[in-house]
Amino acid sequence: MRLAGKVALISGGARGQGAAEARLFVQEGAAVVIGDILDDEGMQLEAEIRELGGQATFVHLDVTDADQWADAVTEAVNRYGKLDILVNNAGIGSTNIGGVNAPRIHEAPAEVWDQIMDVNGKGVFLGSRAAIPAMRTAGGGSIVNISSIAGLVGLGPGSGAGSAYASSKGAVRLLTKATAVQYAGENIRCNSVHPGFIDTAMTARTMADPEQRQRRIDATPIGRIGTVDDIANGVLFLASDEASFMTGSELVIDGGYTAQ
Ligand code: NAP
Repeated sequence: MRLAGKVALISGGARGQGAAEARLFVQEGAAVVIGDILDDEGMQLEAEIRELGGQATFVHLDVTDADQWADAVTEAVNRYGKLDILVNNAGIGSTNIGGVNAPRIHEAPAEVWDQIMDVNGKGVFLGSRAAIPAMRTAGGGSIVNISSIAGLVGLGPGSGAGSAYASSKGAVRLLTKATAVQYAGENIRCNSVHPGFIDTAMTARTMADPEQRQRRIDATPIGRIGTVDDIANGVLFLASDEASFMTGSELVIDGGYTAQ
């Protein structure tokens, strides 16, 4: 029970990595508020966790909306008494909004830039801004921001990460460090996680092409695509008190991709 007595809020928690984190956090003793724009999937996950005897609540949360963030934090505090952990997990790539996969700059519409930055960048800022007052009241907390390998190195055409996505994930990496130094004195830690190529709905369309999938496997020294559980285990560690001397750091979970 590595999160016994903790209360967590996970954005984009209805499916993919966020859902894996919600399930794992509950197994480790946390109560979890799942925020997402996918209401049906979120309510199904809430029901699944409750049927197994866990504590979970779904709230509709569009991470670009400051009022919905305020409501999600209020829900956590009213229902479970406090907020200890925030996972800023929600994110989109260009394919989520019907765009070309990983466009280069000269091909990328400005509105796609705005939408991706809004969700992946501003969404993390708004989430942290909403959660930090509750964490200060609780006497501390842990924020885990999901960035990407695309927030560490430039990925070429065909990699799945376009210019807006890379820029947004780079912003998440440094917002994490700013948050870490601003709140270290108040026992609030903030770290980023950098997944490599992971099988989720976000990447399903690309991964369905055997050639594209194999190219990603070949580029990953460990020789496979990552799973949502590979990421959830790292997020769990950073969320827990086991990581109490870690803040502003980057946990890279990429099968060795960025080690090359
Ligand atoms: P996913 O299965 O698509 O999960 C992301 C979730 O966030 C979805 O439920 C999505 O809903 C939701 N979401 C999108 N926009 C939102 C908004 N405005 N407000 C609230 N929720 C929103 O993808 P994933 O792979 O688990 O992604 C999780 C995180 O990992 C993202 O930040 C992603 O950038 C990052 N990441 C993924 C990979 C990878 O290879 N999969 C690699 C590196 C980093 P919709 O489906 O409706 O958009």
